[in-house]
Amino acid sequence: MTDEPVTAALAELAPDFRGELLRPGDGGYDAARRVWNGMIDRRPGLIARCTGVGDVQAAIRVAREQRLLVAVRGGGHNVAGNAVCDDGLVIDLSPLKGIFVDPSSRTARVQGGVTLGELDRETQRFGLATTGGLISTTGVAGLTLGGGLGWLARKFGTACDNLLSAQVVTPAGEIVTASESENPDLFWGLRGGGGNFGIVTTFEYRLHRVGPEVLAGAVFHPLERGEAVLRFFHDFAREAPDELTAIAQVFTAGPAPFLPPETEGRRLVAIGVCWAGDLDEGERVLAPLRSSGSPLADVIGPIPYTALQSGSDPAFPAGRHNYWKSSYLNEISDGAIAAALEYAERMPSPYSVFYVEHLEGAIRRVSPEETAFAHRDAAFDFNALAVWEDPSDTDENVAWARGFWEAMQPHAGRGVYVNNLGVEGQDRVREAYGEATYARLAALKDRFDPENLLRLNQNVEPSRAGAVA
Ligand SMILES: Cc1cc2nc3c(=O)[nH]c(=O)nc-3n(C[C@H](O)[C@H](O)[C@H](O)COP(=O)(O)OP(=O)(O)OC[C@H]3O[C@@H](n4cnc5c(N)ncnc54)[C@H](O)[C@@H]3O)c2cc1C
Repeated sequence: MTDEPVTAALAELAPDFRGELLRPGDGGYDAARRVWNGMIDRRPGLIARCTGVGDVQAAIRVAREQRLLVAVRGGGHNVAGNAVCDDGLVIDLSPLKGIFVDPSSRTARVQGGVTLGELDRETQRFGLATTGGLISTTGVAGLTLGGGLGWLARKFGTACDNLLSAQVVTPAGEIVTASESENPDLFWGLRGGGGNFGIVTTFEYRLHRVGPEVLAGAVFHPLERGEAVLRFFHDFAREAPDELTAIAQVFTAGPAPFLPPETEGRRLVAIGVCWAGDLDEGERVLAPLRSSGSPLADVIGPIPYTALQSGSDPAFPAGRHNYWKSSYLNEISDGAIAAALEYAERMPSPYSVFYVEHLEGAIRRVSPEETAFAHRDAAFDFNALAVWEDPSDTDENVAWARGFWEAMQPHAGRGVYVNNLGVEGQDRVREAYGEATYARLAALKDRFDPENLLRLNQNVEPSRAGAVA
């Protein structure tokens, strides 16, 4: 690709742009092109670090004029690496850090570069929170636009269920509001349909009373007890009230003060929990989990909600190589348990993880037509996370995740959570939505982005590629 369109874009943007414009060789360029997944190493022609809606609007207009490949960056966490491109323009929202909490209406207006940890920090000042995810460095933008599953989702719904409105810069460069009353079709599509329809500069969320403490932590068992633990997890989780979210995971123990020293380097199975309700009632509900099968360690107790939200961060640092394969599950059948344990035993890397997250609750009570996040009936989300450091170990780790996923398929349900997808092709994007939702998204794409300017994402292809709105 020639450099000309990028040079022209830079010349056009430079006079009025408030944020930084970074080209290869500029100080800060290498840090700005890095994303969470260390496998992704791309060199954009220009990175436009936006400081406001004016910068975003100018950047998208120039990208359209110059026919530049566009990547949009929120938190830069997505495993597929779509927040950065080779050669084209990155519209980087990460400097947009405004968070405005209104305790009287229990709402927050949040700019597109905010991370979950930053949002929790502000909302918890008022004893409030909304559904986020499990790792505090994830961006609110990508998480919400894909759905948003976290410790509060069974009680309060997904992150996108708590979205009240969004300010969006469309591919045509217009600034619009999307809500139940304004542009309701766009609002439907933003809640699960990802970054296909525009760049969201501000998210308005509904907040809930949470904390300051929740009852949370995990029980740990040796992998040899995995079959009994996963079977218990399945039954326990499905019978629990919505205040409880439980996640089972298999991982390799590091040196942790709460684990017996002889477990270091061994595979363990853990059930992590969050009870977001009355603490005494939580103690009663969690008692069977804590007494079942004599855990190696039990670190469940009242902790600040913000500590829960950042507690798993050290296990998922930026820069490691990541390859994930995921599906929804309707149940954790005996076959699923056998496949999971077989593959968990032969994880090639000590950083890899296999987890099953319980869903249902408030997630299921929203009708599948109400938002583009459609697979409301899934009971569990399963994910094999291959994580490694040495690039020469890539083939072995990718093969492990693929083999694991294949082995789980006979026991899996319909679909996949769009935010867990890597670069897996158009069929998998369709699977993430199901045919009816995908058709509706494609019609919306025709209206808002018929030229597919925003295509570096889990792409919903316009049905009339190249047509004008
Ligand atoms: C360690 C880790 C833990 C995770 N845990 C959870 C979890 O608990 N629950 C959960 O639901 N998900 C989880 N995820 C998945 C996460 O939701 C997605 O990776 C999400 O896309 C990250 O959003 P981001 O803004 O950080 O990513 P980015 O990589 O910046 O963006 C992701 C996609 O959204 C688009 N996009 C970003 N910002 C905007 C915007 N403002 N407007 C329009 N489009 C935009 C991008 O172009 C890209 O296609 C996790 C991911 C990681 C890596």
